[in-house]
Formats: sequence, C-alpha cells, structure tokens
Amino acid sequence: MMVIGGRAARLWRAAVIVWLACTCSVTLAATQLPAMVQVAPGDFVRQGACAEASKENQDGIANIGFVVGASAVAVIDPGGSLQDGNRLRAAIRATTGLPIRFVIMTHGHPDHVFGATAFLPDNPVFVGHWQLPGVLASRAGHDHRALMDSLFTVQTGAAVAPTLLVHDRLTLDLGGRTLALQAYASAHTDADITIVDQATATLFAGDLLFSGRVPALDGSLRGWLRALDRLEAQSALRAVPGHGPASVPWPQAAADERRYLATLEHDVRGAIAAGQDVNAVTATAAAAERPHWQLFDAYNGRNAIEAYKELQWE
Ligand SMILES: [Zn+2]
Repeated sequence: MMVIGGRAARLWRAAVIVWLACTCSVTLAATQLPAMVQVAPGDFVRQGACAEASKENQDGIANIGFVVGASAVAVIDPGGSLQDGNRLRAAIRATTGLPIRFVIMTHGHPDHVFGATAFLPDNPVFVGHWQLPGVLASRAGHDHRALMDSLFTVQTGAAVAPTLLVHDRLTLDLGGRTLALQAYASAHTDADITIVDQATATLFAGDLLFSGRVPALDGSLRGWLRALDRLEAQSALRAVPGHGPASVPWPQAAADERRYLATLEHDVRGAIAAGQDVNAVTATAAAAERPHWQLFDAYNGRNAIEAYKELQWE
C-alpha cells in the first residue's frame, strides 16, 4: 500500500471540499434505487444509459456495480456523479449491511469515477492504476467543467485519488472471496485496470470492453489491441463491459470491439499512406463500422483523430 502526497493529496482535499459543498447545499437524491442486475451470485451491476451525460441521466451512463464477500463489499466504479454514486450506495445498503471496504476505479473517466465522493463516509480504500492519481490531477479541472456543462448542476461530485495502486497485479480479499486486479499499459486510457471475481469467474473489464456502444479512444490504439490480446487470455465465463449489457459471454464478446479497432487502424494507416490530412480521415476512417455501433457519430471522428496522431509518426 502506498501513501499519496503532493498533488494527489491536494486533489483529495479538493474532492472533500466539493463533497462537503454539495452535501451541505442540496438535498441528496439517493432514495431512488437503481435497477441492479445480479450477473452472478454476489456480483451486482447497474447498466448505464446508452447516451451522453445529461441532466436527465445525471451521468449514469457507465456500467457500475459491486461485489459482496463474506466480510466486506467492493465497489467497482462508483458512478458518474454524486447522485449516481449515492444511488449505488443506497442499492448496496439495500442488499447487505457489510462494510464497503474498497472502491475500485477501473480508469479515470468522469462517468466511472465522479460518484466516488458518495462513498467518503464509508472510509473505504480507493483503488486504481498506479498512473491514475496523475491522470486525475491533470484532468480534474477540465473534466469537472465539462461535466458541469452537461449536468447544469453543482452535484457533479468528483473523483478521489486512489491510495492503493495497481502496478501490475493485485489481489483483494472480501472474506473468502478474492478479486484479482490487473493493470494495463496505455489502451482505452493511460490508466486502465480490470478485475476478475475468482468466485464466479466474472471479468469486470471497465472501458477496455465496449459492447454495442462504439469504443472511445483516449489512450493508444495499438496499445488497446495489445491489451485485448491479454484480456482475451483472462479465464472468465462472462464479462461486464464498461458500456453495453450488464453481462456478456467471454471471450466471444470481444470480437466486435477487436474488429472495430483493427478497422480503424487499417483505415487510418491507409489514409496516412495516401497523404490525406487529419480532417479527411475523420470522414472516412472505419465508416464501414457505422451500422454496428450506437453513438457512432459522436465518437468515431474523435477516435480517428487520436489514431491519426498516434500512427502518423511511425
Ligand atoms: Zn472510459
């Protein structure tokens, strides 16, 4: 276990201030329980809305959930806003009285972690990729403003910097139930981890796996494809994608995402070789994939730009 200092500690203090400001100034909308799917015994998932963040969905757009062991609970992604986190916390309390010992953050995107402040009263250990504190510190202002713009509210919540960091592999004990965490090099983001509940062979893939909703690239295209090789080697019966159904068969469910990412790489490489500029690439890259994905037009152009920037200097 590592103790954070410097910028990460300041971020944590800022998160506490945001949380206090929010809890003091408004009434918490935690009473409405979200629909939880028990994808395997003790593994609970709230399926996120297939939409952009909005005031209506309160950034509840990611798949989030929790695992119940014999002596403790682990949250796997605390949600996209303070409200989203409060609803997840209420769902846990409606399920079990066991302590919430861990809040695991699969990566740093707001829709997965801005509910973290809802769990501060439980005094859990916050867990994440070893690079996550730096990622959160560098993005905090931008992400917070962007979410404020989307939600038109002060209840955005905030991420909480992890203090238990995953450098490669790490196991967590919930009392007769082991979670196996794995860190990845740059892929969907620069700080992705996955979790396998060994009791049920359930893989919580975070945003290394999209199903139905088009993947969003914020790390490395080539790194993501390499991560998929490792991910597919994970022994699991089912996976919980970061976006899509609450549960999908594993590893079969990785095939669509692999095809999309490989098509994006192929098309962007071809455009670069043909001397096309980045603006032309956004209109053509992976166009054949449009029928297969929801929110395709909201993200594919951005993915093409990220891929172009990565591949142009090879
Ligand atoms: Zn993400």
